[in-house]
Amino acid sequence: MISFSWLDDVAVVTIDNPPVNASTQAVRAGLIEAIGVIVADGRASGIVLTGAGKSFVAGSDIKEFGAPIADPQLPQVLDALVNAPVPVVAAIDGFALGGGLELALACDLRVATQTAVFGLPEVTLGLVPGAGGTQRLPRLVGIASAIDLAATGKRIGADGALKIGLIDAISGDDLLSDAISVLRESGAKGRIPEGPVVGSDPEAVAAAIRSARAASKGRPAASRTIELVLKCAETTLTDGLRLERDAFNAIRVEPEAFAYRHLFFAERKAGKIATATAVAPVSKVAVIGAGTMGVGIAYSFASAGYAVTLIDSQSAALERAVLKLEDLRVRDVRSGRMTVGSAEAAAQRVVTATALVAATDMDLVVEAVFEDIEVKKTVLAEIGAVVAPHAIIATNTSYLDIGAIAVGVAHPERFLGMHFFAPANVMKLVEVVRTGSTSDETTARILGVAKHLGKQPVIAGNGFGFIGNRIYAAYRKHAEYLVMDGASPAQVDAAMTAFGMAMGPFAVADLSGLDIAWRMRQARRHLRLPDERYVDVADRLCEMNRLGRKTKAGYYDYSDDGAQPSPIVADVIAQSRADAGVTARAISDEEIVGRCLGAMANEAAHLMAEGVAQRASDVDVVMVHGYGFPRWQGGLTWWVCQLAPDARDRLTALIATAEGPTFRAGNFSLLAPDT
Ligand code: NAD
Repeated sequence: MISFSWLDDVAVVTIDNPPVNASTQAVRAGLIEAIGVIVADGRASGIVLTGAGKSFVAGSDIKEFGAPIADPQLPQVLDALVNAPVPVVAAIDGFALGGGLELALACDLRVATQTAVFGLPEVTLGLVPGAGGTQRLPRLVGIASAIDLAATGKRIGADGALKIGLIDAISGDDLLSDAISVLRESGAKGRIPEGPVVGSDPEAVAAAIRSARAASKGRPAASRTIELVLKCAETTLTDGLRLERDAFNAIRVEPEAFAYRHLFFAERKAGKIATATAVAPVSKVAVIGAGTMGVGIAYSFASAGYAVTLIDSQSAALERAVLKLEDLRVRDVRSGRMTVGSAEAAAQRVVTATALVAATDMDLVVEAVFEDIEVKKTVLAEIGAVVAPHAIIATNTSYLDIGAIAVGVAHPERFLGMHFFAPANVMKLVEVVRTGSTSDETTARILGVAKHLGKQPVIAGNGFGFIGNRIYAAYRKHAEYLVMDGASPAQVDAAMTAFGMAMGPFAVADLSGLDIAWRMRQARRHLRLPDERYVDVADRLCEMNRLGRKTKAGYYDYSDDGAQPSPIVADVIAQSRADAGVTARAISDEEIVGRCLGAMANEAAHLMAEGVAQRASDVDVVMVHGYGFPRWQGGLTWWVCQLAPDARDRLTALIATAEGPTFRAGNFSLLAPDT
């Protein structure tokens, strides 16, 4: 795991802990031992510390953070480096993140390859850096740049690192010999001063604090990181390191840190299937349907390097699509998400066609035509007749039974759902929906594609609405019950955003357009149970052509000043209550949050029982990446499992009363965390 060799009078210590050289207890102990042996040998004029494989050290072992950390801990390793009588240079290739960057900061010099990546992602796990990230870094790069890195978790490349003074040199072809040259030329001990940081530019510091606070939405980990960095202006390094370690040890066992860690592991599990099979590569992709979703999907594929053929039967739709793709590229270049060169390369990768025969010879065909089962069946049968024998066909349907769509498909083992979310070029979630016939190899190939697109895949079964839309439907239904029972749409939205949802359910409904759900309710009216509690407020609004933002009126009124609660909607609600014989009562924000989340969690329990969701943690990943659920709450099932059993029972009783006789209690024990 830790080895060292001699190059003349320089000792080269290599960390080799695949896949990413995470700093575990064994790595830490090995480093202390190696440094001890080298120092005792007395031959060394300097030490190079480097990582084998594609990382320097990509971080600490996150599993350790929930319990007492075994000795030696990272600060003890860093002390050994700092106290070594000879200079130490970090030779960095690949990731130097978190504890890995802190390791490099405790060296006297840092040399990196052009492709090295630096960052302190602790805040994204609800932590503060715990071994010098908030104390050595500002002494090297200044307080403003340190806040910018440590309190946002952002990553920078070698050029950025050189610019702010985080590294001393960028290596050419040979990292090791360049590191030794730098060591020989400028090797000196103790280049990070013990005293406080002086002479910071107050405006630059204030600006860095403002943007870090905004990026972190005021989460405590970022606030505490900022406080620790600011301490550098008034304390010694030794005192600062002690304060930092105390803060790290306190925050890592707070509930929020557990929630973040749960999601970290949930995300990694969600994209895996147990039976790993040989995965043939995908490089050529056809997207059928150049509407809202097709364009976003085509853009994602082209940006990730796939050759894309965008097909639509309407040439006018293709013309609109080309303009939209150009618009997306301009925006991405303007915001710095893409370089001009990569945007141009992506543009070159897209061709358009009006005939389905253009899908011949593709590795993957993603269907995104109208949400109409007959249209989809016809399109898929035609595609099936032209595609290559190895091709996978995926449908982007939101609600249709993909087993029924697959009926006409020649190779059902290579058919599945790839449910992207709008806007598909931005939203990370992709539900990978398997029918009973989808093969493991097909699933594995699509999971690989989704990851290559930079998306978060989650495997789902073929049930109505899959995972996310099914849970969201329960949310929306119970939000409507709350309005009937006495809350206003604005109160429900405010309570849910205060909990941390990106938007409230009624603001979302207005944004999506009330008519989509209206059409769906009409199409599924025959499925409604006779004794089901039904709220008709949305129907009444649609009948008044209040379809949401697009008609400047929905649950809210819209003007240039933004969304305003509508007196007309208040009257509609009052009338609806009167017609249903409901007497409004005051409802607390706590009840709103509890009933909405409880109803969603109850639906999640049903999804687990039905096998639509494989793991409770998959539900959490879906809600966080597709529905604006706050990351720091750990996801829906994590949230509900943190409640005491009697609190959960009280919630279930409230939800059952609100819904009436059709309520079916789910088995919450199926939601117990598996991470
Ligand atoms: P859309 O109406 O914007 O676009 C559909 C496109 O398909 C149109 O350009 C149409 O010309 C084309 N088309 C129709 N029949 C065709 C055929 N036979 N051959 C070729 N092209 C054909 O629809 P959308 O909103 O992009 O939705 C597409 C699919 O994605 C639907 O299944 C929908 O449920 C799903 N979806 C939509 C969203 C969303 O928010 N809009 C989110 C997730 C999934």
